[in-house]
Amino acid sequence: MTAPESQRGLVLVVEDEAAIADVIRLNLVKAGYGVHVERSGDAGLAAVRSHRPVAVVLDVGLPGIDGIEVCRRLRAADDWTPILFVTARDDEVDRIVGLELGADDYVTKPFSPRELVARVTSVLRRTRGEAQAPAELSIGALRVDPAQHRVFAGADEVGLTATEFELLAFMMRRPGWVFSREQLLSEVWGYAPMASMRTVDVHIAQLRGKLGAASPIRTVRGVGYSVDAGQATP
Ligand code: CA
Repeated sequence: MTAPESQRGLVLVVEDEAAIADVIRLNLVKAGYGVHVERSGDAGLAAVRSHRPVAVVLDVGLPGIDGIEVCRRLRAADDWTPILFVTARDDEVDRIVGLELGADDYVTKPFSPRELVARVTSVLRRTRGEAQAPAELSIGALRVDPAQHRVFAGADEVGLTATEFELLAFMMRRPGWVFSREQLLSEVWGYAPMASMRTVDVHIAQLRGKLGAASPIRTVRGVGYSVDAGQATP
């Protein structure tokens, strides 16, 4: 069962106890999240892959494969979707911490639903960026791997500076959008210094030079820049 996805994104809840799943779902929905609930480890694992949630609230004790195994399999597959564990006992917390599973946080039952929602929001704040783009970005021959900060034009790896990388990834996440130099300065650089719109032009020129024929960046005369949406794969 899936509530309509909201502006805050879809959270997957994997919990076999219906009453607890309902409480979690209601509170997340009230906080503006879309919610999808699964009741077993196997179904949860499949739902991460099919629904691409922004975060997973994962019960440890589940029928079939347990929550710890779900987390282990996701991380082994290089899936870094944020995971908040829900544990029933302290020894489960010890296992999660001891196994270095790559969980992002945990709450112990009984928990306050408000606290759980606050933890989800806080995990998302910490992992923002990566969480929004866990998958590879690609347009034509150009591939950007946000998790590893690597860029490939065809088979060749392209070395970019951190700023060039952020600029390219920012635009590729929004193919077809047209950005002014002011917008790019404030979104990528985080500030808009006076009289330095030229900074954007310089970085765009460097990016185009490095990417060569694989560059998807288009100049929109009188406005700014855009990434060609033509061959974009989300
Ligand atoms: Ca359970």
